[in-house]
Amino acid sequence: MRGISVVILLGAPGVGKGTVAQYLKDKYNAYHFSTGNLLRNEVEKGSDIGNKVEDTLRSGGLVGDEIVNELVKQNIEKVVSDGSVVVLDGYPRTKNQAIVLDDMLSGKLKEVIRVIEIDVDKECLVARLSKRRVCIKCGNTFGPQDGVTICSCGGKLIKRKDDEESVIRNRLKKYEEDTLPVSRYYADRLVNVSGDGSPVDVVRRVDVILHSLGIEKRR
Ligand SMILES: [Zn+2]
Repeated sequence: MRGISVVILLGAPGVGKGTVAQYLKDKYNAYHFSTGNLLRNEVEKGSDIGNKVEDTLRSGGLVGDEIVNELVKQNIEKVVSDGSVVVLDGYPRTKNQAIVLDDMLSGKLKEVIRVIEIDVDKECLVARLSKRRVCIKCGNTFGPQDGVTICSCGGKLIKRKDDEESVIRNRLKKYEEDTLPVSRYYADRLVNVSGDGSPVDVVRRVDVILHSLGIEKRR
């Protein structure tokens, strides 16, 4: 098991998990597994799993634990031998998934899992999310701190219905309820990091944490 490190990012919608994941990909040469992307890849490949989940994804439903667990397992097994950092975001979503993850690689994965929970004050999150805009072409999201009015792909930026204040409050509440058992499960492997300030501030804090865990930048 030498080499591979698994970093799980926890944090409510809007705390900047995507930014941190992208940073780890760029600077730590990390594999970034988000369940959404893994599932969409399967659909594109037309694999058995892809065919099974296509309709669920299209209707915006949640894909069952068993399929998601299997997909994560397959992808981790593919990269386990090359000494990489694996970043998980959006998984595990439930305590049950966390238990399954610990059991992967004959129970050895457990030893290399570290969890970073990004914290942002709830009222700040509401303010941040209600100012969020999404590109109608590629789906990238932008906050006021990005200072852009049009996406680099040329797409127009719009405010999603999901980013209305009342919807945001409900989403945050649901997130808390769903994730609390997961962060409790990881209590002894979890480091909290403040998500306040600019993305640069946040990734600097993440660097310090990873360094203390013996995970270093690759480029
Ligand atoms: Zn775009």
